[in-house]
Amino acid sequence: MTQAFLSVAWIVASILFVSSLRGLSHPETARRGNGYGITGMVLAVLAVLLAADVGNHAALVLAVGGGAAIGMVLAQRVEMTSMPELVAILHSFVGLAAVLVGFAAYLGDHNHGTNQLLLIEIWLDVLIGAITFTGSIVAFLKLRGSVSGKPLLLPGRHLLNAGLALTALGLVIPFLQGGDGLIWLMAMTGLACALGVLLVAAIGGADMPVVVSMLNSYSGWTASAAGFMLGNDLLIITGALVGSSGAILSYIMCKAMNRSLASVIFGGFGADPKPGSAQAQANAAPQGDVVATEIGALAHELLEAKQVVIVPGYGMAVARAQHAVRQLVDVLQQRGCTARFAIHPVAGRLPGHMNVLLAEANVPYDIVLEMDEINHEFPKTDVVLVIGANDIVNPGAQTDTSSPIYGMPVLEVWKAKRVVVLKRSRSSGYAGVDNPLFYKENTRMLFADAKVGMEQVVAAVSAG
Ligand code: NDP
Repeated sequence: MTQAFLSVAWIVASILFVSSLRGLSHPETARRGNGYGITGMVLAVLAVLLAADVGNHAALVLAVGGGAAIGMVLAQRVEMTSMPELVAILHSFVGLAAVLVGFAAYLGDHNHGTNQLLLIEIWLDVLIGAITFTGSIVAFLKLRGSVSGKPLLLPGRHLLNAGLALTALGLVIPFLQGGDGLIWLMAMTGLACALGVLLVAAIGGADMPVVVSMLNSYSGWTASAAGFMLGNDLLIITGALVGSSGAILSYIMCKAMNRSLASVIFGGFGADPKPGSAQAQANAAPQGDVVATEIGALAHELLEAKQVVIVPGYGMAVARAQHAVRQLVDVLQQRGCTARFAIHPVAGRLPGHMNVLLAEANVPYDIVLEMDEINHEFPKTDVVLVIGANDIVNPGAQTDTSSPIYGMPVLEVWKAKRVVVLKRSRSSGYAGVDNPLFYKENTRMLFADAKVGMEQVVAAVSAG
């Protein structure tokens, strides 16, 4: 394939990748966005395979075919709640690929290390790639529960990390000096791998998905550095798209959890109070009396209501109750009630978790409202039904300065006339803190599994 054709293929693939990101920014267009991304990737791979300077096609087809098959099986099998760990392990592959390509570029450099710009590109590519590689493996193991999810806080870790980072950067000087630079490249790779482990080991709790998103960003930048190194425009553009979108997503998630990006990167969140400590138990222990309700009573209130808002959370996801929830909305709408959904930006366990589940249950997008759109509507709402959500409706986030989630914006459901919380017990949510919402005068608790409970509510409302 001539260079001109290759350039056209790069430009078309880049446009498809940009269109893909645009499509993915809204649930309604997400499927189309995915289609653009797949087409762009197929085009890019084909263009590489047909490029004049690429040989050994059999090995390449075998590798790409094998990788694609494994990827398809994994993507089909993965549970929605395990998505962050799949993404983490995929990032580790990007990091490892960058390291290997960096070494290959160095060993295959026919100018024997005299092209300083190329050497710097190789250095950056391997440095970011190695951090991404080991950092992503640690993130994968933590999310999977294979190692403790709590932050590992070594004494003087900031100093240690700074020392490692400065030494890894400083080794570029002997590397650029010519001679046998391989030893310096290998030494830096070892330090960067250690830094990746230490950086992510120090992060825990709710910050983990933000870290996965940050590693996503790093993997983009390392791909971009590889693009400069290989003189491949498509890799530069794609890397920059991944790098910047990962950084923007990390920022959005931090904002939704009221965390600063720096505090996430340098770790420590979730370390105090220690698990099982008196303080942790005190935070999670119920601080009042709740009033329980029954299916029949809830059905009656729903039938009387003009305005209903449903708040889905992690419990709806694990119970897979979204189809029953959709049926309830259908029945209520048929009876002339306005039923809508309120979505918190960090409801569930991954960004957009609730939107994906509701889309899967064919809930129309126009009744799915974001926190900022619905918060002022709660005082006008007759019944709020909270299904398997906890932290995202915790009023303590606004009032209790000692709470680990203090400052996190929440859905102000307690302002509605009636709040019914459907969950199995009084236990706490992800942040491990008690929820004063449960003890409010206008709150009722419906103790049930989200799916079983919702199916009973649908039956009762339909019969009503
Ligand atoms: P929470 O984790 O706060 O609460 C979920 C509740 O669901 C639990 O209290 C549990 O109570 C209940 N539950 C569990 N299983 C069931 C079931 N089968 N049926 C009914 N209820 C069930 O979830 P939220 O969605 O409210 O909040 C999300 C939390 O996750 C936040 O703290 C957020 O910061 C964090 N997070 C979010 C990320 C994201 O990107 N979305 C990423 C990482 C963390 P019980 O056991 O009594 O049933």
